[in-house]
Amino acid sequence: MKILNEFRCSFPADSANEALARAAVSAFLIPADPTAQELADLRTVISEAVTNAIVHGYRETPGEVGIVLRMLPERTIYIRVTDKGCGISDIPKAMEPLYTSAPEEDRAGLGFAIMQTFTDTLHVRSAPGKGTVLTMRRRLGNDHAEEA
Ligand code: ATP
Ligand code: MG
Repeated sequence: MKILNEFRCSFPADSANEALARAAVSAFLIPADPTAQELADLRTVISEAVTNAIVHGYRETPGEVGIVLRMLPERTIYIRVTDKGCGISDIPKAMEPLYTSAPEEDRAGLGFAIMQTFTDTLHVRSAPGKGTVLTMRRRLGNDHAEEA
């Protein structure tokens, strides 16, 4: 599919950088004039994905998190979040609402459910010991600025 715009970056797996990922999504989306709700949804989505990479993928050990943001035709935003951490052995189980491998850390097991709710498609590719690639798409509503 034709890529209309793209932003890539990577940063250390430090929870301080979650805000950086949210800010990147906001800045990338602004030219598309998203609604406040769309912006909030996609900020939440990237936050959940990056948090998972840091706390589960790398288990708070040093590593690199990569993000790719793309604007595709028909106002579709593509978000990819990559880590080279421990990987996920049972993906369907990990995606079950309320499943968490870290209940002792007071995790709710809702990250994947939230990401699925706020996106149109979500795809997980993962290999134990190699890492995880999360790919999501969300089509934005009509551009009201263009209609006016
Ligand atoms: P919450 O997101 O509500 O704080 P959680 O992170 O445990 O809790 P999910 O985000 O739904 O819940 O993730 C479910 C499980 O999938 C995690 O507990 C973890 O075992 C696994 N997981 C998710 N992302 C990764 C990742 N990048 N690398 C390795 N394991 C992951
Ligand atoms: Mg999570």
